[in-house]
Amino acid sequence: MANAHARSGMTMLEGVHFNFDDAAQRLGLDPAIQTLLKIPYRQVQVEVPIYRDNGQLEVYRGYRVQHDGARGPYKGGIRYHPEANMEEVQALASIMTWKTALVNLPFGGAKGGVTCNPRELSQAELERLTRTFTQRIDLIIGVYNDIPAPDMNTNAQTMAWMMDEYERRHGYSPGIVTGKPIDLGGSKCREQATGQGVAICSREAMKRLGETLEGKTVVVQGFGNVGSNTARFHAKSGAKVIAVSDVEGGILNPGGFDVDALIAWKNDRKPLADYPGAKRITNDELLAMSCDILIPCALGHVIHEGNASSVNAKMIVEGANAPLIPTVDKGLKERGILVVPDVLANAGGVTVSYFEWAQNVQQHAWTEAQIEAELESIMCEAFGNVYNRAAGSDLTLRQSAYMIGIERVARARQLRGI
Ligand code: NAD
Repeated sequence: MANAHARSGMTMLEGVHFNFDDAAQRLGLDPAIQTLLKIPYRQVQVEVPIYRDNGQLEVYRGYRVQHDGARGPYKGGIRYHPEANMEEVQALASIMTWKTALVNLPFGGAKGGVTCNPRELSQAELERLTRTFTQRIDLIIGVYNDIPAPDMNTNAQTMAWMMDEYERRHGYSPGIVTGKPIDLGGSKCREQATGQGVAICSREAMKRLGETLEGKTVVVQGFGNVGSNTARFHAKSGAKVIAVSDVEGGILNPGGFDVDALIAWKNDRKPLADYPGAKRITNDELLAMSCDILIPCALGHVIHEGNASSVNAKMIVEGANAPLIPTVDKGLKERGILVVPDVLANAGGVTVSYFEWAQNVQQHAWTEAQIEAELESIMCEAFGNVYNRAAGSDLTLRQSAYMIGIERVARARQLRGI
C-alpha cells in the first residue's frame, strides 16, 4: 500500500511543517521559538519482539513521540499500521499539540505507533505486541506525564491490555490510557466522540452558511471508529449518507444508507462491498463524488495535487488526521469549498479522552448528559474561535486554527521559561 508521500509527493511531517511555518510567520513568532515548537521534546524508538502463534520470533519497531508538554501531560493515540514510522508519528504528535491547545485542554501533544500489519496478527499476537510495546515505553508514559489512546487499528481492547501491563509495575492507574472499556474505567461516549465531534463541526459550518444538515448528502471515506460514528451522527441529524468505504473499496446508495444497519453489517465482520442493494465504487471514485459534505476518515494525504481538482463536494470536514495535503487548501478555497481542518474537526475524541482522564483522577464517573453537554460546548467554542478569526480575512480555517493553537502553546512555553 502506498504511503502518504507516495500518494501526494509530500510526507506527513512536511505537510505539518508547511502549516506550522505558515501560521508561525503570520504570528510573527521569534525564529528560535519556532524551532523550539517544531522539534519534538522527546522521541523513542523501541524494538517489539514477539513470538508468533507458530513459534517464530518476529521483531517489530515501535515509536512514541512527545511533541510538546508546555500545557500539560503529553496526549495522543497509538497506531498499528504497515505505514507507521517515526516521521509519521512525529507529524501526528505535532498535530496533537495544536489540537489540544485549540480546544483548550490541559494537555500537550504526543503520538505512538508500531509498524505492523494488524490484519495479519491474531488476537493473541496483538495482545503480546501491545504488552511488549507497553513495557518498552513504560519509562516515559505516566498518568500525569503521557497518556496513550486508540488510533488506527487499535481500540478499547488494546487500551485494556496497555493499562493492565502498566499496572503490573505501577499498581492501580486507570488514568494511564483513555479509550478503555467502560468496565475498566473508560468513559461513556468516548468510543463515538470523534465522530460526534465531526458531526458537530459539520452542523456548525452549515449554520454559518445559513443552512442545516437536514437532507445534505454526505460521503465518508473509512468506516472504522471515526468513519462509522461520523456517518451515524450525520444520519441522526437528518443528513443522507450516500457513500462509504473501507480499505477494500466503497459502496454507493444515492437514496442514503440506513447507517445503523451498515454498522451492524460491519460489526458482523461482513465485507462492506457485499452490502445488499448498494453499488460498488472505488476509493478514488468516492473522493470525487458529487455531494454536500466529503469526510475523509482513513489515511493521510488522500487528497493531493493529483486529485483535488476532481473533488466535487461543497465542504470537506477532516475526520482523519492530515487527509489533505496542505498545498491544495488555496485552490479549494478559490473554488468555494470550505475545509474544516483536522485539528478542529476530529478533536471530539481527545476532548472526551480528557473527560475520561478527569473521571479517572477524580474517581468519579460523569453522566452521559454531562459529557455530551461539555463536548458540545467545547467543540462549539473552538469552532466559533476558528471561524471568527478567519472571517473577513483571507485566512483558511486551517490557518486560523493553527494560529490559535500555536499562539497558546507559545504563550505557555514563554510563561514557564525556556
Ligand atoms: P480505524 O482503524 O478504526 O478505521 C480506519 C478505517 O479506514 C477502516 O475502515 C479501514 O478499512 C479504512 N482504511 C484503511 N486504509 C484505507 C484506504 N487505503 N482507503 C480507504 N479506507 C481505508 O481508525 P480510526 O480510529 O477510525 O482512525 C481513522 C483516522 O482518524 C486516522 O487518521 C486517525 O488518526 C484519525 N483519528 C482518530 C481518532 C479516534 O478517536 N480513533 C481521533 C482523532 C483522529
